[in-house]
Amino acid sequence: MRKLITCKCDHCQTEFQKPESEYKRNLKLGRENFCTRSCSGKAHAKFVKDLPKYNIAVHAGNQSDEYTPFRYYLKNVNNKVYVLTQAYN
Ligand SMILES: [Zn+2]
Repeated sequence: MRKLITCKCDHCQTEFQKPESEYKRNLKLGRENFCTRSCSGKAHAKFVKDLPKYNIAVHAGNQSDEYTPFRYYLKNVNNKVYVLTQAYN
């Protein structure tokens, strides 16, 4: 049986028991210790919420060029030319 230690949850401050090896491993890797998976999830949700928001609109349309409005029609014209040449030859 693994040696257990009592530690505090980093989210709700509840005291709980955990294998000492797991606690030391988390300490070494700079991770936090949580009493339950639910507490871990809540802490992660808070962490994600506090992250700076990535604004994809800054990069939207950065691949467009002078032909962009006509790309749809150019593509379909090629298809129609193929169909017409097949039908009338
Ligand atoms: Zn907790």
